[in-house]
Amino acid sequence: KPKNRLVAQAYIDGVLDGDRVLLSRAITIIESNLDSDKILAKEIVQSILPSSGKSIRIGITGVPGVGKSTFIEAFGLYLVKQGHKVAILSIDPSSQRTKGSILGDKTRMEELANLEEAYIRPSSSGDTLGGVANKTGETMLLCEAAGYDVILIETVGVGQSETAVHGMTDFFLLLMLSGAGDELQGIKKGIMEMADMLVINKADGDNITNSKIAKRQYQNALHIFPLSESGWSPVVSTASSTNNIGISNVWDEVSKYKTLVEANGYFVKNRNHQQIKWMYNNINEELKQMFYGSKRITSELAQLEKDIVSSEISPVKAALQIIEKFKNSF
Ligand code: GDP
Repeated sequence: KPKNRLVAQAYIDGVLDGDRVLLSRAITIIESNLDSDKILAKEIVQSILPSSGKSIRIGITGVPGVGKSTFIEAFGLYLVKQGHKVAILSIDPSSQRTKGSILGDKTRMEELANLEEAYIRPSSSGDTLGGVANKTGETMLLCEAAGYDVILIETVGVGQSETAVHGMTDFFLLLMLSGAGDELQGIKKGIMEMADMLVINKADGDNITNSKIAKRQYQNALHIFPLSESGWSPVVSTASSTNNIGISNVWDEVSKYKTLVEANGYFVKNRNHQQIKWMYNNINEELKQMFYGSKRITSELAQLEKDIVSSEISPVKAALQIIEKFKNSF
């Protein structure tokens, strides 16, 4: 045990010193599924917790090809020039299946990846979305403790991972393309509703006029959504990530948002809410696993399914009965 304590302390000190090698290793421990690493990870996260939180957390989403990597490279370089330290984490749910992370492809963020003030980490290991959210969330805390004051969490705008990212960030940015008319390019309405800002990317060359039209259309579309609790009205802008146009404007809007929600109390309120929800998500996951992971329960369930089909027992009674058995097994 004392040896473990020393190991944990080395990681903790390294992270707090902003040592990138130790930060990376600590994140690897967080991502690990080994029981011994899980214990170590909890100790590290617990110790760095007081030094975390001092950042602005920005979620970035959009369908593959919209230009997320290109935008983040331009945005990240701009932020570093402004004196910020930027951490970029990406959640790629599809990589769980394909094992090849499209977001992990750093080649388009080459310039940014070479800067001391930027830290890029694909964060896609994990079997469940809940597991991924835990790992990305804790990775974010470590990055903050290591001194990164802008956290960008990137995800593909097609699945459930948006909700997870929205649940751990302060500001949610949706990248879109023009030229798709008012049809939403596979972006679900729910994702549009989460957005604090919509950026129409690739507003260059022949696309400029269409982008301006799209901007107006989306502005109108956003108007029909109810005002968010933050008091912020989502903004729409255009950008060309390859030509570095409209990039600083995004940061201006993020800054305006931060000023507003810090003044009206929403910033803290939202973070508190997110933390508490994070705990409940874990309780729910853990309970489900305890329940469905039990051999006794699963064999009993198989029998109950049969009894329901043959009208021996009502579904409601069956559920109560098995929960009762589960309770009594403690
Ligand atoms: P991601 O899949 O969302 O990460 O998209 P990428 O950043 O990989 O970009 C997809 C393609 O769009 C690449 O060929 C980029 O060079 C191109 N691209 C990205 N941003 C822009 C832009 O602002 N203007 C133009 N014309 N092309 C862009």
